[in-house]
Amino acid sequence: MRPTRLDPLFAPVTKLPGIGPKTAKTLGSLLVGHAEREARISDLLFHLPTSMIDRRLRPGVSGSPEGTIVTLTLCVDQHRPPPRNSRAPYKVFAHDETGSIELVFFHARRDYLEKILPVGETRLVSGKVEWFNDRAQMVHPDYVVSEEDAKTLPVVEPVYPLTAGLSGRMIIKAMQLALKVVPDLPEWQDAKFLDQQGFPSFKDALLAVHHPEDASDLVAEGKAVRRLAYDEYLANQLALALVRNSMRHQGGTERRGDGQLRARIRAALPFNLTEGQEQALIEISEDLDAPVRMLRLLQGDVGSGKTVVGLMAMAQVIESGAQAALMAPTDILARQHYASILPLCEAAGIRAAVMSGKDTAKTKREINAALAAGELDLIVGTHALFQTTVTFKNLGLAVVDEQHRFGVHQRLSLSSKGAHVDVLVMTATPIPRTLVLSYFGDMEVSRLTDKPEGRQPIKTVAVSLDRISEVVERLRAAIQRGEKAYWVCPLVEESEKIDLAAAQERFEDLQRSLGPVVSLVHGRQSADEKQAAMDDFKHGRTRLLVATTVIEVGVDVPDATIIVIEHSERFGLAQLHQLRGRVGRGSAASTCLLLYKAPLGETSAARLSILRETNDGFRIAEEDLRLRGEGELLGTRQSGMPGFKIANVEAHGDLMEIARDDAKLILSRDPALTSPRGDALRHLLYLFSRDEAVRLLRAG
Ligand code: ADP
Ligand code: MG
Repeated sequence: MRPTRLDPLFAPVTKLPGIGPKTAKTLGSLLVGHAEREARISDLLFHLPTSMIDRRLRPGVSGSPEGTIVTLTLCVDQHRPPPRNSRAPYKVFAHDETGSIELVFFHARRDYLEKILPVGETRLVSGKVEWFNDRAQMVHPDYVVSEEDAKTLPVVEPVYPLTAGLSGRMIIKAMQLALKVVPDLPEWQDAKFLDQQGFPSFKDALLAVHHPEDASDLVAEGKAVRRLAYDEYLANQLALALVRNSMRHQGGTERRGDGQLRARIRAALPFNLTEGQEQALIEISEDLDAPVRMLRLLQGDVGSGKTVVGLMAMAQVIESGAQAALMAPTDILARQHYASILPLCEAAGIRAAVMSGKDTAKTKREINAALAAGELDLIVGTHALFQTTVTFKNLGLAVVDEQHRFGVHQRLSLSSKGAHVDVLVMTATPIPRTLVLSYFGDMEVSRLTDKPEGRQPIKTVAVSLDRISEVVERLRAAIQRGEKAYWVCPLVEESEKIDLAAAQERFEDLQRSLGPVVSLVHGRQSADEKQAAMDDFKHGRTRLLVATTVIEVGVDVPDATIIVIEHSERFGLAQLHQLRGRVGRGSAASTCLLLYKAPLGETSAARLSILRETNDGFRIAEEDLRLRGEGELLGTRQSGMPGFKIANVEAHGDLMEIARDDAKLILSRDPALTSPRGDALRHLLYLFSRDEAVRLLRAG
């Protein structure tokens, strides 16, 4: 149960005076994402200002610098309303002992202005001063208050990221009310650590960032923001460590095999495994042999050959008498995986099937029954395998492919499918170490650093869209030589229709110039249509596959040698690298043509030149992180996985490692979080929505 002390923070924002259902909805979409739940007061408090307006400067009229916000004490001299039907502004003339100034109002209401700026009286006026021919002006002052009310003038005003329908004033008002309900909470951080870092308490940190005194209170490197970022990291690491401990605690199963299935697969492979693959297999095999639960991440650049490693791991588990599941992010990839491993499964005598969204209810029932009865050893599917009512007779290993959004939530749902399921996550996104930590916690990592033998580096060229006809001629020649090529059209979510139309048009163009060897695949097609287009291409019935980014992950057609990426300037770096990885998978030389629309912006130009320079996925990932920020790299914004509200790797990466060690130490001393600090830490888990992990405490 949530500690009751947190109740005020978990109340909906509508509890704040002045926040109605409409504003609450707007706040929901700003703070929580697509308003899947209502915004809570804590959500509001974790919405930090990005800058501030300082009204402390009081230089007098004559000393006011151009374009600067100042606060002036003015005596009101005269009102000059515009003539009737004129568009001229309403002016109020005023002065202080240093000089005079015009206050300018458009579309003003006279009675209102006469009320707030009575002639002959003194008012505090705050806003931006501008100079025209040595005359000072202030257009629409931000604040006009009487001397008695001087206190109500906010001297320092935080500036928040906003959204349509929400003004800075509204959010400031709501924030001030929200800050009033922040309770005193028990300190969950180690006192010595706080001291060392010079961190304020949680409450003081919140107050400091929302009542900034100085710009330094707001920067990510400031003590207040760092304190909150550390809280967030610790909550995250603690949750991951709890899941891990609980999985460990449930114990693992020794999955020793006799090596027979693996030997048969090896014999059927048309190649030798690379050293990296062999090494990864040794590490995986040791995990599986041991009576602990495996949680391992297999990282390898596109084309490094992760699938066969996953298959060998599954084979070992099947040898030991258990079942294995391979999960892909999309239906098309699930079917493709199945098609590529099926011959090997058949050679080894592994009973495998694929479960797909397009299966009939009857087929699904049959597969379900076979899984439950243990008549299937290996099932390939999407995440639906874990969301539905599928039951396994004895699931031993789940291999999750191309999936870097495998959070606490998914791990828990996995646990429900079998008590001791081992997990191997395979990812092609070369995630930097700090991000591995934040998304997977202290997971073991195996890396495929080498590529299969005989691969030639992909030649990457950037070509302006003006030269598209040359590109088409090159493709014509390549197709005549018997090569295969992809043509990728960008797909921007907001305007999917327009982009599909563009892809369709490109397809028709190319078909006109190159003939019936061109086919089209895009996200709006039915699973059958997609499959047919992919099959035609794979088996050489077509030679040019025009695609939207559906081919981004995992598609494997080893004899494709050219990829053209249209409007490459619209793609992110990691995405371009993934796309490029669709070629260069065989022994033939490959080319990647980055078509761009000139002129290129600075960032796009930087991206394209990094791609031309290197094929090294790790370097590209680091550069991508630098150019874009972590959220986009991992696609967390769309994933619905609890991301980070405050912490970001660039500014706070150093804290992440500390948080991991801290979480380990905490749980080694107090595994059930029952000490006073443990109790305080439970507050922290709830505050940062990592409370799924708290359930494990009681269960464990
Ligand atoms: P990814 O790591 O991107 O998932 P895949 O597992 O799809 O890569 O492998 C890419 C291609 O390389 C496939 O066609 C696969 O059969 C092939 N492959 C995998 N391992 C080797 C190897 N050791 N030698 C040669 N080809 C290999
Ligand atoms: Mg793959």
